[in-house]
Amino acid sequence: MSADAFSEQGASLAPPTEAEEGPLVVARSQVSRIEQLSPHFVRVQFEAPEFSRMGNPGENFDQRVKVIFPPENGELPDLSHAGAAWYRVWLETPEPARGAMRSYTIRSLHESGESTSIIIDFVVHEPNSEAGPATRWAMRAAPGDELLIIGPRRGLRDGGGVEYAPGNARSVILAGDETAAPAISSILESVDPTTHGVAFLEVPTITDAIPIDPPPGWEIHVLPRENAAHGSRLIATVLDYLGTPHTSVRIDDAETTDPLWETATFSSLGEPVAAGVSTRSARWFWIAGESGMVTTLRRHLVRDLGVDRCDVAFMGYWRRGLAMRG
Ligand SMILES: Cc1cc2nc3c(=O)[nH]c(=O)nc-3n(C[C@H](O)[C@H](O)[C@H](O)COP(=O)(O)OP(=O)(O)OC[C@H]3O[C@@H](n4cnc5c(N)ncnc54)[C@H](O)[C@@H]3O)c2cc1C
Repeated sequence: MSADAFSEQGASLAPPTEAEEGPLVVARSQVSRIEQLSPHFVRVQFEAPEFSRMGNPGENFDQRVKVIFPPENGELPDLSHAGAAWYRVWLETPEPARGAMRSYTIRSLHESGESTSIIIDFVVHEPNSEAGPATRWAMRAAPGDELLIIGPRRGLRDGGGVEYAPGNARSVILAGDETAAPAISSILESVDPTTHGVAFLEVPTITDAIPIDPPPGWEIHVLPRENAAHGSRLIATVLDYLGTPHTSVRIDDAETTDPLWETATFSSLGEPVAAGVSTRSARWFWIAGESGMVTTLRRHLVRDLGVDRCDVAFMGYWRRGLAMRG
């Protein structure tokens, strides 16, 4: 798990009270609707009573959640009595019964009358034997299927899982691959109207270019990859936009085993970080997707262009050839 509020805070034997539940809510959620948006995107809508206590409607930004997928036997682990100790209880569950945990973005949080639903857009990458448990689940999802979704308690602004933090910057650059499409779309629906910016989004094919309505002052560039290397169109387009000369794009191997994760307050490279978000720069960057692509953009921005690391959130959402652990 990455360094955020997604951590345990103590054990409880009885069903948790609100105080015992801690900053995160564990929701046993049911699929209510499935829509194949394009060849590589499946939209899944979930319902759970706990959603009325989760997230911040209207200010979702790039809110991430942990999702637990059922193991082979189809039975989700029971975390309903674990309260804030849910993560320890999950880790202590024998591996064959634990299922798999992955990170996803709340694409949107809908409230209608008494009920709240959550939508997650799943990328289904090549349906081959290499596909992980999350992708396999999304390819076969049906109404009534259940998952555990773990997200921040409603109203907790610092409850973890939102990295969009431009500080005083009024100009913002968003860049990501298809796994960042839900976050970029949601950020564009949540942005402060006094900001302006540009969003670059690389998607697998032209048929995956799902329309996004930009808010006033924003431009969106959707970049179908087709047969090019993953990340190469995004990197080249962002560098062109920044006026950085480049001949051909060389995509770096990730520098660490885990995907790169570096924000104003945390560095997976162990580099020193500032005490908080930058308050002095006019421009702020948000970059997410495959870790090699993110690492390559970091090299160009920080080393070649001298961008202050405080002015960028670099987020490796996944890494080529590596099964994630949460
Ligand atoms: C904060 C955060 C938010 C995220 N939000 C979303 C989201 O909203 N929607 C979404 O679809 N993903 C999202 N992701 C990415 C998602 O968690 C990963 O893609 C995850 O690895 C998928 O799990 P899996 O079980 O399918 O594959 P894993 O078991 O993790 O990996 C199996 C194999 O598949 C490869 N692989 C994983 N993802 C991809 C991919 N996208 N394309 C090609 N190969 C891949 C791996 O390299 C590995 O070889 C997010 C990740 C983070 C950290």
